[in-house]
Amino acid sequence: MAAVTGKNTKGTLRVLVAGGGVAGPALAFWLTRAGHRVTVVERFPALRASGAQVDLRGQGIEAVARMGLLDAVRGRLVDEAGVAFVDSRGRPKATIMANTSGKGRQTLTSEYEIMRGDLVRILHDATKDDAEYVFGKSVDGFDQDERRVTAHFSDGTSGEYDLLVGADGQGSRIRRALLPPGFDPYWRVGMHMAYWFVPRIATDTTVRDTYMAPGGRQIMRRSHNATETQVYFVLREDSAEASAIHRAPVERQRRFWADRFHDAGWQTRRFVEGMEASPFFYSQEVAQVRTGTWSRGRVVLAGDAAHCASPYSGMGVSGGLVGAYVLAGEINRRAHDLPTALARYDRVLRPFVDAVQAEANPRILRVGLPMSRHAISAFQNATALACFLRIPDLVARLSKEDRGGAWTLPAYADARAA
Ligand SMILES: Cc1cc2nc3c(=O)[nH]c(=O)nc-3n(C[C@H](O)[C@H](O)[C@H](O)COP(=O)(O)OP(=O)(O)OC[C@H]3O[C@@H](n4cnc5c(N)ncnc54)[C@H](O)[C@@H]3O)c2cc1C
Repeated sequence: MAAVTGKNTKGTLRVLVAGGGVAGPALAFWLTRAGHRVTVVERFPALRASGAQVDLRGQGIEAVARMGLLDAVRGRLVDEAGVAFVDSRGRPKATIMANTSGKGRQTLTSEYEIMRGDLVRILHDATKDDAEYVFGKSVDGFDQDERRVTAHFSDGTSGEYDLLVGADGQGSRIRRALLPPGFDPYWRVGMHMAYWFVPRIATDTTVRDTYMAPGGRQIMRRSHNATETQVYFVLREDSAEASAIHRAPVERQRRFWADRFHDAGWQTRRFVEGMEASPFFYSQEVAQVRTGTWSRGRVVLAGDAAHCASPYSGMGVSGGLVGAYVLAGEINRRAHDLPTALARYDRVLRPFVDAVQAEANPRILRVGLPMSRHAISAFQNATALACFLRIPDLVARLSKEDRGGAWTLPAYADARAA
């Protein structure tokens, strides 16, 4: 195959980004600043500014700071004081407060908690004047040769670009077309979660409640504004039915979750009753995306499509922002030599991704979903003792690094705060 150069006569690239979530717009931010022409195609008919609470950590906070968007993010933060492990009457058995000392690393609660929808809106606002956004259209496939990539869209049209970026999330179609047939990129461990909103009531405080029920079931409750409370159901189950349910019609998904939790206790009835009327419902398998390849020719993956660390990692959004920063940085540095830019993207980012994925190992996270009442008591007692000894607080304050290890964001010439 002849060398892929990827530069048009003006030295700028025509880039198509599939996916207008977090990684796609972040990439558009940096690429348009270097003068590249970027089109973001989003499958959803409008900006998909939905989702629950996400946290920004470590290198993700730095990536936002370099975009000059930290103040915008600070203006939308959710006030979460900490995490309490409660019993079936809602009494806290142990509470881990957020690390607000400004030193060390975050505890279970980050100092930068924000609703996904607010972050998506901030990124869209920062890019909508420089990048072209097309909603209600998906990238269904592509062909490429050494001079261009041709993207095929859901409306039957096609377009030619210098580069196609698959920022199309955990279930990425671009990734499927990029990897060898039959390759399974998912690292599954039999954990599932669903989340939705219910009306907030007076006893819903700013501390996140976590409740464990026998059978590997966990319920989390957290409140992000005066009227709404988020509910998360987490389930440990290895069945094929559980793995398939996330692709079933929403009505069946809701029935699955109501059925699995009907005897879980605590506030289950309130939460299940509120599920029907919720303006938002999302159900997914807790899985990591692991693949040794992020690019082929003129097609490259970014964000969850490349390296989803799982929604349980606390690093999905940070990983997407950091990955987009590195990918754009390498492209902007070597727009005339895409093969080298994409190879360097892999080489520079991979150690960060490996560290994040290892730390968020879902096999270890399963330990937090005990099966028996006895194991739940043992877990709560151990957590209570650790909190009494202030271990989580001390570990957080004394740690030098957040998730992602000692890896730091590289410096790119045009990556100054705006
Ligand atoms: C609706 C939604 C809610 C979420 N809620 C949470 C949450 O509460 N907590 C959490 O930790 N993480 C959540 N996530 C995942 C989180 O956003 C990601 O882990 C992280 O931000 C990385 O972002 P991403 O841009 O790679 O992927 P995503 O944010 O998933 O964005 C991918 C985008 O690509 C679009 N898309 C998919 N296929 C195509 C295609 N073929 N062509 C064009 N567009 C396509 C999707 O509609 C989506 O907007 C949610 C994701 C979505 C889509």
